[in-house]
Amino acid sequence: MRKTKIICTLGPATEKTETIRQLIARGADVFRLNMSHAPREWVREIVPRIRKLAGELGRPVGILLDTQGPAIRTGPMKTPLELKKGDVLELTVRHAKKTQKKSVEVNYDKFANDVSVGDTILVDNGLIKLTVIEKKKNRVLCKVITPSTLGSRRHINLPGVHVSLPALTKKDIADVTLGAQLGVDFVALSFVREPGDLTELRDLLTRKKSKAQVLAKIEDQAAVESIDDIIKIADLVMVARGDLGIEVPMEELPIIQRRIVKSCIRLGKPVVVATHLLESMITNRIPTRAEITDVANAVFEQADAIMLSGETSIGHYPVECVEVLNRVAARTERSGGAGYAESAILEDARQKTVASAVVLANSLARSKIIVFTRHGRMARNTSNLRPERAIIFAFTPSEEVRRQLSICWGVCSVRIEFSDDPNVTIETAQKYLRDQKLTTTGDNLVVISDVRARDALVDCVQLRTAK
Ligand code: PEP
Repeated sequence: MRKTKIICTLGPATEKTETIRQLIARGADVFRLNMSHAPREWVREIVPRIRKLAGELGRPVGILLDTQGPAIRTGPMKTPLELKKGDVLELTVRHAKKTQKKSVEVNYDKFANDVSVGDTILVDNGLIKLTVIEKKKNRVLCKVITPSTLGSRRHINLPGVHVSLPALTKKDIADVTLGAQLGVDFVALSFVREPGDLTELRDLLTRKKSKAQVLAKIEDQAAVESIDDIIKIADLVMVARGDLGIEVPMEELPIIQRRIVKSCIRLGKPVVVATHLLESMITNRIPTRAEITDVANAVFEQADAIMLSGETSIGHYPVECVEVLNRVAARTERSGGAGYAESAILEDARQKTVASAVVLANSLARSKIIVFTRHGRMARNTSNLRPERAIIFAFTPSEEVRRQLSICWGVCSVRIEFSDDPNVTIETAQKYLRDQKLTTTGDNLVVISDVRARDALVDCVQLRTAK
């Protein structure tokens, strides 16, 4: 059983029912709906379809709604603009009249307020590099440093610049509202800059009566600088390497990835490594050796999940991409991991109880961990300690909790009703595992559950032998 979870971004290449079925069958654990591209009508239609398919296949598939966030883009253009080194490019706002031969509108009114002379502006995934040479109220003049052709609606990055756009734009609020109505499991906030941004999203979800977990996408320097504070407030974190790789010097990216994964494990929050894992497979049937090694590195670091973007949303080989991740992850996991869980902080008695169960499971051959979890917390605590070999079977009465555990490292979740008598619940779980051939006679079952002690229920660890 693979422990690293796989997230697939859905799009035109994967929206058909049969393709979604294949993705689930080959190992997709979570589907991401990218609101930078996905129309709301499409989301409204596809969410129930995913739920139905997951139900048919008996899999707890999670759904992640990814907001666009405060994205800045160049405007539409009739013909692409050829930019040469040294050219002057004018960026206008509020429909200001153009004063230069090469000029393009930007969709953010306060653009000229936020940038300063000398700042770097990166356009179209960093392909075009500009330096600000002059700014006026409604326009910014830039010198082209790295030339290329500028197409319509290209994404703009402003490394190191504090953009005064709100954390949640009007579009994000409408998208999150829809996600709450549809009961998505996770909502990702793009370009998180400070912990308060996440509180804003969580408040919105609470107002919309959603229990979706809040995922912080780390994609710029501001987020990296407050990383621990952001991790503490978030339910989950994503190393969003697409934008992050543009916003920070490229040689810093692998170091930042490792730091974020390490900090998330230390602070007990699930972490996703995203973007460009198998980029060449958008058009090629097989990955490059470097891509295989990058995937293996994220798996070795023991990220909870690895995420495909363009590879599955617009790529030619989406199902093959999942197969590659499945193979590489399963093999790498058998070779060991980075062991960052050794520095995990155990704050309360429950975390310490879970830690003792993991130590016990690590010390035994043929061990499996069984955890009973109403809200998912005990299962997440167990997953965060990255047991060396034992798979974590998480039993819960809640389908919602089950889907939220779909993103957690090493967790295989099962829905059962809990009896008032914890012993009966444990027997039911053991029978399920035996019937499904997930345990064999003699396996060491490390059970984390409640037990009744006089009138109270207390947490306890038991060692049982599978019958
Ligand atoms: C990223 O930048 O890596 C990412 C996942 O975000 P988006 O695809 O929304 O740019």
